[in-house]
Amino acid sequence: MTNKFTTNLFSCRCMWVNGPIIVGAGPSGLATAACLTKNGVPYVILERSNCIASLWQKRTYDRLKLHLPKQFCQLPLLPFPEDYPEYPTKKQFIKYLELYRNHFNIEPHFNERVLSARFDRVSGLWRVVTSRDRFEEVEYISKWLVVAAGENAECVIPEFDGLDDFNGNISHVSEYKCGERYRGEKVLVVGCGNSGMEICLDLCEYNAFPSMVVRDSVHILPREIFGKSTFETGVLLMQCLPLWLVDKIVLFLTWLVLGSTENLGLKRPSKGPFALKKTEGRTPVLDIGALSKIRSGDIKIVPAVKRFFKNSVELVDGRVVPVDSVIFATGYRTNVLDWLQENDLFNNQGYTKEIVQIGSKGNSGLYVVGYTKKGLSGCSSDAIKVAIDISREWREAAADASMTFSCKRRSCSNKYI
Ligand SMILES: Cc1cc2nc3c(=O)[nH]c(=O)nc-3n(C[C@H](O)[C@H](O)[C@H](O)COP(=O)(O)OP(=O)(O)OC[C@H]3O[C@@H](n4cnc5c(N)ncnc54)[C@H](O)[C@@H]3O)c2cc1C
Repeated sequence: MTNKFTTNLFSCRCMWVNGPIIVGAGPSGLATAACLTKNGVPYVILERSNCIASLWQKRTYDRLKLHLPKQFCQLPLLPFPEDYPEYPTKKQFIKYLELYRNHFNIEPHFNERVLSARFDRVSGLWRVVTSRDRFEEVEYISKWLVVAAGENAECVIPEFDGLDDFNGNISHVSEYKCGERYRGEKVLVVGCGNSGMEICLDLCEYNAFPSMVVRDSVHILPREIFGKSTFETGVLLMQCLPLWLVDKIVLFLTWLVLGSTENLGLKRPSKGPFALKKTEGRTPVLDIGALSKIRSGDIKIVPAVKRFFKNSVELVDGRVVPVDSVIFATGYRTNVLDWLQENDLFNNQGYTKEIVQIGSKGNSGLYVVGYTKKGLSGCSSDAIKVAIDISREWREAAADASMTFSCKRRSCSNKYI
């Protein structure tokens, strides 16, 4: 009997991994690999795409720069090159990740999508099945599994009445590169996070006419307040003040810089921006110019969508607005529930149960890196902790004669079953 979690025992290539299996070669997986290397622990890193950091290389827009200052975004053990600006561009960030990969000699197994991972209680080992180049199935076996497949693994497009009848172009923000193809078009951007705001700004620069759907409330903060990063200011204040007071101060300073945003149709949530991030993982928007385009009317704010027609959209306030193209900036989801069987770490939305937990460790040698909704700084701190813990266990296991046999430095040994 086969289902998506069973392996074909007759055709599957099987590999013993003398160290952890890492799923995903994004920043989290790379950081974990680097920290393991520093501790002398071999590993295997599996990546479904044909490159490292596929989110950054394939699913982000051209004008993207890191939202946070570089000191909050660099990975462990290797800082950004000194000549990098405060907010590196996407290209610079990818170049840094390539440098990082080369520096630590990280060789992911590309084009290997993990189809299933299950803990075999009898042997006390993880059995991870991948499809290699879509044709061959490979099974990896190890004592440890590190999930680093990303919070943004799959695109989310909510269901809408009439969307199938809409005649214009429909896409997810992950496909957007620049506004060239939208010149002169009326574009509905659904979603008002950092990506939604920034592509509206980009669309204006290509003479398109964006309308941005703001269904709910949103915190917009200036990226910098009086020349200092707003995020950094908040982090510094949090070291000596309670969260509610930090929120009050940041919102007051924001009001001094940006003025009121409510009269533009951008209601603020009742919780402050840092409290909201901490409790719900919701990231505030850091404004890099969209707000002035909203003020000037170049970006229109519209309420939630009720339904789509052939060439237009009906909004919840009853207005029907003509639309040529729709871009969904409606976020992403994780994909762990599609392949990771029975585990004690993830909730039924595919996020770790405690979002405040760092470097999550479950039972049976399961580890998670990069699921704390804390961006790149969360990936780094998770990776450091996970690598320390695995290294300790690996050394203990290596001291056991049964684990040491002859493959001290090899990460993999092949056999067919
Ligand atoms: C547009 C955008 C801008 C952002 N800007 C910032 C920023 O400025 N600062 C910040 O801190 N954070 C930012 N983030 C958050 C971002 O998620 C992190 O920066 C970072 O990419 C997370 O790294 P990760 O390795 O955990 O996940 P990812 O970068 O998503 O990498 C996960 C990897 O796992 C692979 N994978 C997934 N499923 C499987 C599978 N089944 N089998 C094998 N491989 C698999 C994927 O192909 C991918 O390469 C941004 C996110 C987006 C979308």
